[in-house]
Amino acid sequence: MEIKIIPCLSDNYSYLIFEKETNTLSIVDPSDFHACDEIIKKYKKLDYILNTHHHADHVDGNIKLKNKYNCKILGFKNDKNRIPGIDILLNENQMKKIGNLEFKVIFIPGHTKGHIAFYFKKEKIVFTGDTLFSLGCGRVFEGTHKDMLNSLNKLKNLPPETKVYCGHEYTKTNLDFCLKHDPNNALLKEKSLIINSKLSSNLPTIPTTIGEEKKMNVFLRYDDVALKQALNLKGSSDQEIFSKLRDLKDTF
Ligand code: ZN
Ligand code: FE
Repeated sequence: MEIKIIPCLSDNYSYLIFEKETNTLSIVDPSDFHACDEIIKKYKKLDYILNTHHHADHVDGNIKLKNKYNCKILGFKNDKNRIPGIDILLNENQMKKIGNLEFKVIFIPGHTKGHIAFYFKKEKIVFTGDTLFSLGCGRVFEGTHKDMLNSLNKLKNLPPETKVYCGHEYTKTNLDFCLKHDPNNALLKEKSLIINSKLSSNLPTIPTTIGEEKKMNVFLRYDDVALKQALNLKGSSDQEIFSKLRDLKDTF
């Protein structure tokens, strides 16, 4: 499995997935036709589009790519009226193959009602769209804070070595937010050096891993004692801490 990161629009990432044995080319969330096609056209084909959710900055390339390459578009069944050009309707926990690669559909509502992640267990890779970011999580638009926390917990339970490819380059702002509320996290300070050097060389900070996120992303650390203390919410539930953090981030 080869993955190419395609920066799109101001801060989106689309991901090209190439599987050699069956010569299968897929793309996750083609935000922008031209940016994606610059790379796709070198392969002279596109077999599948995988959409994490229906937002325009994740599906805008769908129709033009489908018209040019006659590819199949895969998305969550409940979003069949919101994902342009959708062909294959996916169910929660369904296993699906693209060439020789198999992924599982993880249903992770919160950002939108029909948001899903694509989990390639064997390859230890997950595409998380706008639900889990490097050091952050997506805004809660259509679901509840509780939905979002449940969804993040599903991702948190994947093996720690799982690589995370998310929908946006939001890492710098997320890092600042994490450092503000978790200032004594030594690993976070270490990672900030790596992040800053990547960004100053214009490189993506993606992928991260589930293991790193568990240790550094405040939205997965709602049960950390030091973090609870720093927020002055010692006796509060996980849900309360998470909601507080999400609210604070909305105005950060
Ligand atoms: Zn979105
Ligand atoms: Fe987005």
